[in-house]
Amino acid sequence: MREGMSRAHAVAIVGLGPKGLYCLERLLAEFHARPLERPLHIHVFNRSATFGASPVYDPHQPDFILVNISVGEIDLWTAEDPPIVAGRGPDFVTWYQERFQPRGPLFGTEYLPRAVVGQYLVEGFNRIRDHLPNGVTLWCHQG
Ligand SMILES: Cc1cc2nc3c(=O)[nH]c(=O)nc-3n(C[C@H](O)[C@H](O)[C@H](O)COP(=O)(O)OP(=O)(O)OC[C@H]3O[C@@H](n4cnc5c(N)ncnc54)[C@H](O)[C@@H]3O)c2cc1C
Repeated sequence: MREGMSRAHAVAIVGLGPKGLYCLERLLAEFHARPLERPLHIHVFNRSATFGASPVYDPHQPDFILVNISVGEIDLWTAEDPPIVAGRGPDFVTWYQERFQPRGPLFGTEYLPRAVVGQYLVEGFNRIRDHLPNGVTLWCHQG
């Protein structure tokens, strides 16, 4: 094994849509709860630059394209064991109300644009990326 390879573990996640994002968050939580002796390099690959949102939740798609689950069901931060390294973030409804301050409150039964859910996912990715445990380096590769 080359010297550079023996210094750190390396893991790749290919595709950073919603499931890749959950996978990244759980990997970081596991590493944080049970650190390894050597550092961990995580490489994430995604075709587009919108890590966290796949084409399904592309933040640039028109607003008339809606999600097919109600927004009350959308929450990136439900995992508890091991705890989320970044701490519990906002569920979608809380995030939406803080971000857009709509005139009336959301009830969670609404079906909103998929692009907005994409923004939530991208911000979730940014939050995870900004709270890496010690010993972890994250490399984002577009392509
Ligand atoms: C048109 C459409 C609408 C949908 N609407 C909803 C909805 O409203 N609500 C709902 O709950 N579900 C919906 N779904 C189901 C949807 O598939 C899931 O909600 C969710 O997108 C699945 O997430 P995922 O991460 O598994 O896959 P994807 O969302 O497909 O994400 C995969 C990501 O990996 C990237 N990727 C794949 N292969 C590679 C590679 N070799 N190299 C680099 N990057 C790669 C892709 O570009 C993409 O960014 C919809 C599906 C489709 C097709």
